[in-house]
Amino acid sequence: MAFLTALLLVQSSLLICYDGGFERWCLLKLLHEAARELSVTGSYDVLVAGGGVAGVAAALAARRCGATVCLVEKNCALGGLATLGNVTIWLPLCDGRGNQVSGGVAEELMRLAVRDLAADNREAGFYGIPACWESGGSEEERRRQRFSAGFNPVSYLMALEELVSGEGVEIRYDTRLCSLARRGETITHAIIEDKGGRSALAAAVFVDATGDADLCHLAGEATEVLDSNVLCGWFYYMVNGVLRLRHCSNKYSPSLTREGAEGPFFRGDDPVAVSTMVQESRKLMAGTLEKLRVELAGAEVEIFTIPVIPCFRATRRYAGGYTIVEEEAHKWHHDTCGMVSDWRKAGPVWAVPWRSLCASGAGNLAVAGRCVAAAGGAWDVLRALPGCAVTGEAAGTAAALVAAGGGDLRKLDAGVLQARLRARGVILGREKLGRSGLSNNDGIA
Ligand SMILES: Cc1cc2nc3c(=O)[nH]c(=O)nc-3n(C[C@H](O)[C@H](O)[C@H](O)COP(=O)(O)OP(=O)(O)OC[C@H]3O[C@@H](n4cnc5c(N)ncnc54)[C@H](O)[C@@H]3O)c2cc1C
Repeated sequence: MAFLTALLLVQSSLLICYDGGFERWCLLKLLHEAARELSVTGSYDVLVAGGGVAGVAAALAARRCGATVCLVEKNCALGGLATLGNVTIWLPLCDGRGNQVSGGVAEELMRLAVRDLAADNREAGFYGIPACWESGGSEEERRRQRFSAGFNPVSYLMALEELVSGEGVEIRYDTRLCSLARRGETITHAIIEDKGGRSALAAAVFVDATGDADLCHLAGEATEVLDSNVLCGWFYYMVNGVLRLRHCSNKYSPSLTREGAEGPFFRGDDPVAVSTMVQESRKLMAGTLEKLRVELAGAEVEIFTIPVIPCFRATRRYAGGYTIVEEEAHKWHHDTCGMVSDWRKAGPVWAVPWRSLCASGAGNLAVAGRCVAAAGGAWDVLRALPGCAVTGEAAGTAAALVAAGGGDLRKLDAGVLQARLRARGVILGREKLGRSGLSNNDGIA
């Protein structure tokens, strides 16, 4: 085998490559791309890559601390999975025991999601925040009804754009982050591609909110990749002209492994797997629709909207710094920068340490959203919308705090970050960590 490989490598333009799965050999042609100079088409205090809920929270937080901010998004809308993926349940900001544990931008973005809701429509998954979470609500009711909401993805997409651009964040749509330029431990530029071709954006600090830890990967940070994603795609359909939402998904494992989950399985950093997963998920949706037509015989059943981005739950995450694990519910960290409850059951609350968001290799890189350093069940909790907004706000705030002074996030005093976050309404308190409790798993995320 080694002899064969060596022999073929003599052909300078051909490389024998083994794909790692004992399944196939493939021949790849190598093309040398000529070096070229790139125009620097923008310069900012903070550049946020990825315009999902985490990126929106990071961009807003940084801007509100006075930073100039660019938000780079490869699609042409904000919200990521929450809007383009039809994932429309804002999971709870409370611990299921009547206590709110996530505030700040997380609460603001949840309220924005249902701001334009004319009336509840449970069939379509649209429902407002329970009245008990407005002022005057009783504690008993807050224990029974969690601080959650179901929203219309299209109105949310429009509201997010209005908010973010209205606050002076420069949104760059149709722009993919492709590479990085760095000087030692400092990232100096994001290399992007858009309709104008390839160019560079300079920034003092960068936030990876790509959901897939693309920036971390490009910067050479430690990452973990999961290969256990299942087919899924929440879709809207009409029954006799009435809108309904279907939570269409093969079973996935709460530990985000393959154990107990229904294959086929996919990893989100493999381009072939991404395309296959998207197409096979559409077949799953089509099959589900056919079953609905049989169940609802006589009714007019038609598809309305499907996700237009890949619906991976967990692809690649930052694995340096401090990894949050399931067993650490109720544990306070000296550098806690946000708090997130367990959407699966009442009781557990995680304090999120700043070290899980702060890159250890590059000094000016922070991570937010579903790619922060959390593993297993804790990753399953943190990847939901409250966790994405909480980590986004912390990352954006930290980025703005260090942008003017050399941009080294690793030197940021956690006390300074906590003070700024508290001033913005972020909930940080040991007393909120509580103790674990009764199961109340709605099992949908
Ligand atoms: C089937 C399913 C059901 C779920 N159910 C729920 C639920 O009920 N409630 C809940 O709270 N959560 C749920 N989740 C989880 C939640 O929706 C996501 O984890 C969360 O929305 C992730 O937000 P994010 O901002 O971290 O990432 P994303 O939403 O993935 O956003 C990342 C953004 O970055 C952009 N991007 C990526 N790479 C690049 C690049 N290189 N350059 C430029 N832009 C880039 C993407 O286009 C995207 O807009 C569910 C997820 C799935 C898949």
